[in-house]
Amino acid sequence: MVSVAANPSRQFSPHSRVAVLLPLPLAGLYDYLTGVESLQAGDFVAVPLGRREVIGVVWGEATGGVAEAKLKPVIRRLACPPLPAISRKFIDWVAGYTIAPPGAVLRMAMSVPQALEPLRDLVACRAAMVLPEIKLTEARRRVLRVAGDLPPLLPADLAREAGVGPAVVKGLLEAGALEPVPMAPPPPFASPDPDHPGPSLSPGQQAAADHLRQAVAGGFSVSVIDGVTGSGKTEVYFEAIAAALAAGRQSLILLPEIALSAQWLERFRRRFGVEPAQWHSELSDAKRRDTWRAVVAGTAKVVVGARSALFLPYKELGLLIVDEEHDAGFKQDDGVAYHARDMAVVRGQLGGCPVVLASATPSMETVANIASGRYTRLHLPDRHAGAALPAMDLIDLRRDPPPRGFWLSPLLVKAVEDTLAAGEQAMLFLNRRGYAPLTLCRKCGHRLQCPHCTAWLVEHRGAGRMVCHHCGHHVRPPTKCPQCEAEDSFAACGPGVERIAEEAAHRFPNARIGVMASDTVTGPQQAADFVRRVAEHEIDLLIGTQIVAKGYHFPLLTLVGVVDADLGLDGGDLRAGERTHQLLCQVAGRAGRAERPGRVLLQTFQPAHPVMVALTSGGRDDFIEAEAEARRLAGMPPYGRLAALIVSGPEAGAVDDFARKLARAAPSLEGFQVIGPAPAPLALLRGRHRRRFLIKVRRDVALHGPLRAWLAAVPAPSAIRVQVDVDPYGFL
Ligand code: ADP
Ligand code: ZN
Repeated sequence: MVSVAANPSRQFSPHSRVAVLLPLPLAGLYDYLTGVESLQAGDFVAVPLGRREVIGVVWGEATGGVAEAKLKPVIRRLACPPLPAISRKFIDWVAGYTIAPPGAVLRMAMSVPQALEPLRDLVACRAAMVLPEIKLTEARRRVLRVAGDLPPLLPADLAREAGVGPAVVKGLLEAGALEPVPMAPPPPFASPDPDHPGPSLSPGQQAAADHLRQAVAGGFSVSVIDGVTGSGKTEVYFEAIAAALAAGRQSLILLPEIALSAQWLERFRRRFGVEPAQWHSELSDAKRRDTWRAVVAGTAKVVVGARSALFLPYKELGLLIVDEEHDAGFKQDDGVAYHARDMAVVRGQLGGCPVVLASATPSMETVANIASGRYTRLHLPDRHAGAALPAMDLIDLRRDPPPRGFWLSPLLVKAVEDTLAAGEQAMLFLNRRGYAPLTLCRKCGHRLQCPHCTAWLVEHRGAGRMVCHHCGHHVRPPTKCPQCEAEDSFAACGPGVERIAEEAAHRFPNARIGVMASDTVTGPQQAADFVRRVAEHEIDLLIGTQIVAKGYHFPLLTLVGVVDADLGLDGGDLRAGERTHQLLCQVAGRAGRAERPGRVLLQTFQPAHPVMVALTSGGRDDFIEAEAEARRLAGMPPYGRLAALIVSGPEAGAVDDFARKLARAAPSLEGFQVIGPAPAPLALLRGRHRRRFLIKVRRDVALHGPLRAWLAAVPAPSAIRVQVDVDPYGFL
């Protein structure tokens, strides 16, 4: 593990050497000369790399591999605050744990290069009042038109808006056709007010909040708010944020991307008077830049964001909260494969600050950490204000099947009708986008498949497309079978939400139906609008994928029907049962959140499955106990450890050759088991052939050392990629 940032305030005098970490996936540390200025660890610097100029971070002592005469000097130090020492330590730690290049991790912390340039250089431009005599190309005309229509923009933003290269804007500025205007500094983030009046807490909530307030005053600790949906977990952790604010320290709340809703922000605003800073994939560049700077300056006091917010350079982080800690969205599988919950705990430990995990269905990992005494459990067993948990019942599809070609059992249809007749709202949940997951030719049995992936094309009837959900490849639905050339011979197999919406329109002709899936509701604005329509009862029947399962609170929603409760159980991955249980609890939690009691109906072919039994008999603890026992016996996480290697490349033969070579060099150690190589279930993905190794290691046996040595001993040829995934969650 690279770990050189140990001395946080290390100074490097002029004309000495330093190691600089560059935010590039393959780069490690490079030595440079310091130039005339002295530098300190954490400084952002521009350095030459080949013919390019790259921005990196002064990491520590020079590594000394290169002769002094060959070293190039640092070009300049950027006028922005240094990357804090804890952030540097954290980057080294994450790189070490995930076996990723430190440069790839640094890149996640520096995702906003513009933020590093001093603000006074930020000059916006607008069209000049009097246009000088210049030659007007089409590109120049476009820029001037955009500049005339919009308020002053930064040159880069203007170029992007006009769809031209930056040189065009530069040329117009120099010619005087655009004129510079100083940019107003961004408005600072308003400080949330910890003393803004909040709700009065129930005794159980108060006890949990008191514990958290104390935790905020101490150093590192991990507390788990384990409370049923609607028990007030959010209100309770808001008290911890209030305590951190009062102590003048920053708080970070990590949420699964789709749970960061307008409803959540509105609740925050009600409690603290203002909105928090946000960090997610849809921020504009300007917002991203301002937020990054406010985080490093310590003026953004509360940040709420998706997993990548963990890597922001907090000046003085005093509290880390991971809400819905069990959510699979916290695991990143591409690039640096990390789990944001686990890394949040590490970040808390490195920074000496408390961590709070919240969930109605804590992960098996967290349950094990509670059992071993590492984490403290705060239990909220009841819904707020006496709202009852919804009654959950199974519909045995073997006994009460839907009519042929339909998907809703008569029992579910009747329940929806009754609910709508009572003036209440119902929801049908199916975790599958599109119209049908599989399309086949009735004549010859040919199945429409993605040419780049081992996957069926999913029909999206609304959009008139067949789409691959893995790579995005799409085509118009063919009219002729590509194999037997029969006309109009295709049959759609199985349902997606679009098909359920079609059936619902037929069954409930008077209901106002709304479909919510990530391809029909894209972006926070649309989601907010949809949620408002449900909340204002402009929609009677809500049909959706897991995007509807998260955190929303609809007082009139009293019935949830799960169209296919067995869906997540197929595939047999290690966490299939756990995940299905969590998801269905979450979905069920949408029902009956106010005065009116809720009801949940689960359509299943496996009524005796432990997950179904646990859901309907309320036996969560028994289920967890049984699941834990099975994992313990099998040596599976959290009682054993896993890592995965995915070898991929454009040619199957070369991938197999390399995988075999890797297999021959596998360590043979007691308690370190290498399984594979085997073709991945997704044997072809985006045109790359994939083979997998699974490494299963006993808890008391080292994983990282042997794994690193193994990979170093068998370097991959350039066409082949080896993706390392420590603690994998996906097994495709
Ligand atoms: P959870 O996060 O556990 O699902 P929430 O924090 O979302 O629960 O609370 C559920 C609902 O109950 C929310 O509308 C919330 O505003 C309300 N609520 C929870 N606790 C209180 C309280 N002490 N006073 C008033 N309303 C509360
Ligand atoms: Zn594909």
